[in-house]
Amino acid sequence: MKTLNRSIVLTVLALSSFMAMPPAQAVETKSIPHQKQVAGFYQHQLGNVQITALLDGTNYLSPALFKGIPAAKVTQILKKYYADQAKGVQTSVNAFLVNTGSSLVLVDSGSSSCNGPNFGSVIKNLKAAGYKPEQVDTILLTHLHPDHVCGISDKGVASFPNATVYVADAEANYWLNPKQAAKLPQDKQSRFKQTVEKIQQAVQPYQATKHFKTFKLGDKIKGFDVISTAGHTPGHSSFGFKSGNEEIVFIGDIVHSHSIQFDQPETAIDFDVDPKKAVQTRLAQFARLAKNGQTVAAPHLPFPGIGHIYSADAKHYQWIPVHFKD
Ligand SMILES: [Zn+2]
Repeated sequence: MKTLNRSIVLTVLALSSFMAMPPAQAVETKSIPHQKQVAGFYQHQLGNVQITALLDGTNYLSPALFKGIPAAKVTQILKKYYADQAKGVQTSVNAFLVNTGSSLVLVDSGSSSCNGPNFGSVIKNLKAAGYKPEQVDTILLTHLHPDHVCGISDKGVASFPNATVYVADAEANYWLNPKQAAKLPQDKQSRFKQTVEKIQQAVQPYQATKHFKTFKLGDKIKGFDVISTAGHTPGHSSFGFKSGNEEIVFIGDIVHSHSIQFDQPETAIDFDVDPKKAVQTRLAQFARLAKNGQTVAAPHLPFPGIGHIYSADAKHYQWIPVHFKD
């Protein structure tokens, strides 16, 4: 009797535990932890030159930052590109390390800690690619916005102790001239001063050792040609480099979106110092790059930001990214 009772109890227990088991479906929908990507660097060979794209980070831009385009058109383009409408327009910050064989040149440097926790990975990714910051001998800056210049230093100390930093004279005169803020409309002065503070902190260690230099149009630095692409900022520059019969152009911020500003290239962005001129520059450069087919390296196009610009009608453009190559 005792045994029978015991077996009944066990059966009831077994049944109840079976009944209590969650259905198989519930197990399957348990969330899978988000996995980090591998280190953000990508090697691209151009003739005898090795270009390493370095990811600084990614974030989302509000669609409201794009100017001169109806909101409905923005929504339509983002839908076409399968962009997450709720989050906004994804942007990447990339820098480029160019090993010319005789020089190691960094084009732009990322944000360091200037733009929050999503950014600041350039040095980590440079090391992951097998280089050391001390090996960089030249830094070319397309302009002095914090997402391009802040990465050269960390808390007032040069991150590339053996490098000379180059920027256009018009760019240095605009951001580093103490009289400039007073020339701006009152409502723009405080944002300008905040930006200048970050720029000054980044360049100071290089100025102190006389490793901060300016260039002008027509100068050649370590084999790089200077191309004037002013508009986004007053001294904004792009850099061309040739190897054999191939050419790459480091375009800087002539474009901030592979979707909206390629589909509608006359769209400005809130960060443009001179939006009208920035649009003219983009139209002229897009036409030139689409016609001649140079390889393009861009800081704000999806990582690695290397590819080509195509146009069927010279009005709308398309970004053709490089294909992954081993
Ligand atoms: Zn930028």
